[in-house]
Amino acid sequence: MNRRHFLAMTTAALYPLPTFADDRFQITRTRQEWQDRLTTTQFNVMREHGTEPAFSSPLDKLFKPGTYQCRGCDLPLYSSKAKFDSGTGWPSFYESLPDAIGTRPDRTLLFLVRTECHCRRCGSHLGHIFDDGPPPTGKRHCLNGVSLVFRPAPA
Ligand SMILES: [Zn+2]
Repeated sequence: MNRRHFLAMTTAALYPLPTFADDRFQITRTRQEWQDRLTTTQFNVMREHGTEPAFSSPLDKLFKPGTYQCRGCDLPLYSSKAKFDSGTGWPSFYESLPDAIGTRPDRTLLFLVRTECHCRRCGSHLGHIFDDGPPPTGKRHCLNGVSLVFRPAPA
């Protein structure tokens, strides 16, 4: 086993999906508290790492100026300036706002290691980051619309 494989396995063991140790985050709620404030779909995506159906989110085709906040804790996560139409059916951005998200390797698909992203303040699952995005970053943050709340920019 080479060093890279060893590190990959160690990381996987440290951060098993789908559960986080909630004390890693500034804002923590019990499972019951999350269930009380979220719909079933929102809970499934945000707290259980589910994925909303493609083309189900009204935010996918929204391109007005504003900010996308975390539904779990209202932290501003993404700007409309970084949003683009990826054609995937999920809201897509080429970058997050500074210090807004956390990432970790997601090995739940055996054939593919993906980069999972979540709100850095409450740990709510947002989506995954891929390397096929547009300039200037080349990244595609493929997000679940249910994890986000859009706040229009002041007119
Ligand atoms: Zn949050």
